[in-house]
Amino acid sequence: MTDRCNLRCCYCMPEEGIPLIPHEEILTYEEILRIVRVYAKEGISKIRLTGGEPLIRKGIVDFTSRLSRIEQIEDLSLTTNGVLLKEFARDLRNAGLKRINISLDSLRGERFCRITRRDDYERVWEGIEEAIRVGLSPIKINMVAIQGINDDEIESFARLTLRLPLTIRYIEYMPSGNGDQWKKTDLLAIPQIKERLEKIGRLIPIPSDRWDGPARRYRIEGAIGEIGLIGAVSSHFCDDCNRLRLTADGKIRTCLFSDEEIDVREILRHNGSDDDLRERLLIALGTKPERHHINTHQFKKCQRNMSAIGG
Ligand code: SAM
Repeated sequence: MTDRCNLRCCYCMPEEGIPLIPHEEILTYEEILRIVRVYAKEGISKIRLTGGEPLIRKGIVDFTSRLSRIEQIEDLSLTTNGVLLKEFARDLRNAGLKRINISLDSLRGERFCRITRRDDYERVWEGIEEAIRVGLSPIKINMVAIQGINDDEIESFARLTLRLPLTIRYIEYMPSGNGDQWKKTDLLAIPQIKERLEKIGRLIPIPSDRWDGPARRYRIEGAIGEIGLIGAVSSHFCDDCNRLRLTADGKIRTCLFSDEEIDVREILRHNGSDDDLRERLLIALGTKPERHHINTHQFKKCQRNMSAIGG
């Protein structure tokens, strides 16, 4: 939706921000809707709105409503840092959004402030409460677990599922963009996280359904909510990945960790036909890498920041 963000998470963006995509290069809502309509007919049925922070883009509610009315779109979700969610949750629900992912890396106000470089912890919690109140479901909380930063909160996050209808998803810290200082020693791998969760209670596996994406699902015995484990680094799930990302400036990216980009904005802005757009989709699918190479000597960090790809 945008490469702009109202937080500056230390592992995602430098304090001063990153060079922004000029406004005129960002796809308009009309352009995005055209791409979605054409690609939905080719079988794309699941869409996630992300950023940057999608809720800071003006007109996001109306856009969500138009998107949710496209017949072939069976699943629409949004990933947000939650800062503006209290204001937007009800309108988004009324616009046809059913579920939501909220990123939150600490349950301690002061630490949240240190990680995000903004004092918005209370607002995010109010946003989560509002999301529950208006009936968004499932509500998934994404926690990026980083050694020495928030690894001591793994259990506290999991305990939230004992009393709240939340899915806590642990995400491995990934190397990305130029703003981040990723070191392998910062990584808290999913098997380590799982071991710690097992001390809270028995982890009961939940069979995946077709909308689950890369998460392995569990429930702590007796809990209302769920646990999701996403091991993008330690155990790549590339074989099952059929995701494409469309950047705010109209490039299709075929893998989070690859700089391969296929330009669709050029087609839109030079009177290209729907067939031309379809052709670009096929090129993108044909170039989707078999796997990422994070754990091999071939690995090169991608050039775009996570905030300009969408995470
Ligand atoms: N602003 C929205 C948000 O905060 O959810 C959407 C964009 S943000 C880039 C999407 C997700 O990417 C967030 O959950 C964030 O924690 C995650 N992320 C960013 N950099 C990451 C990294 N290096 N490793 C793992 N996750 C990362």
